[in-house]
Amino acid sequence: MADVVLRDVVKNYGALPVVHAINLDIAHGEFVVLVGPSGCGKSTTLRMIAGLEAISGGTVRIGDRVVNDLPPRDRNISMVFQNYALYPHMSVRENLGFSLHIAKRPKAEIDKAVAEAAEILSLTPLLDRKPGQLSGGQRQRVAMGRAIVRHPDVFLFDEPLSNLDAKLRTQMRVEIKRLHQKVGTTIIYVTHDQIEAITLADRIVIMRDGHIVQIGTPLEVFERPVNAFVATFIGSPP
Ligand code: ADP
Ligand code: MG
Repeated sequence: MADVVLRDVVKNYGALPVVHAINLDIAHGEFVVLVGPSGCGKSTTLRMIAGLEAISGGTVRIGDRVVNDLPPRDRNISMVFQNYALYPHMSVRENLGFSLHIAKRPKAEIDKAVAEAAEILSLTPLLDRKPGQLSGGQRQRVAMGRAIVRHPDVFLFDEPLSNLDAKLRTQMRVEIKRLHQKVGTTIIYVTHDQIEAITLADRIVIMRDGHIVQIGTPLEVFERPVNAFVATFIGSPP
């Protein structure tokens, strides 16, 4: 587990600023949701934390390390995207263990990590299936399982549910909440869906046009929005 601290983090694309000197302190084990309209800079912020996007200014700290110059694989984070790709020719077991296999971990360690992840995500009976023999929700659980086998300090989720239908989305929210309760890892979760933010978050971070406009618990944000933008955004259906 680790805390994550952003200090005056900036992202420019050419001359265009898309994230303006944001500051954010995320505690060990906290579930923080970045929410805001499309294009406000949520994915860019997440990708800078992951190391998939270079920062144009400021500092990103994960645990006790400033990670500005560290490649993604050295940050001890795992990321789950909206368009998760499973390896179609591999079984669920092989999909889950693949990153550890690549990292040349011993077989006994891989087997143990895969068994644990499968147990947490209720995938144990499905370990010998191929992705083509799974439902959408089961595939999404495999994608999450692949992220947790590496025991990351921090999980980053970028709109992981936006390709699922409404019923499955509700179901997966419960799964993600349960995953957090079981593994206790720090989670930074991006969505443009305010209902998802309110149901999942310990704290919500509301972004607009590359700025953070409010940080608070779901109740604080709901009861005391700082401005009309937040009130309208949080108060209206997705
Ligand atoms: P969100 O995830 O909140 O929808 P993004 O972080 O993806 O927003 O994008 C923020 C802004 O940065 C948008 O205006 C987007 O068009 C712009 N942007 C994202 N990636 C690039 C890129 N590679 N080059 C130029 N502009 C980009
Ligand atoms: Mg995005």
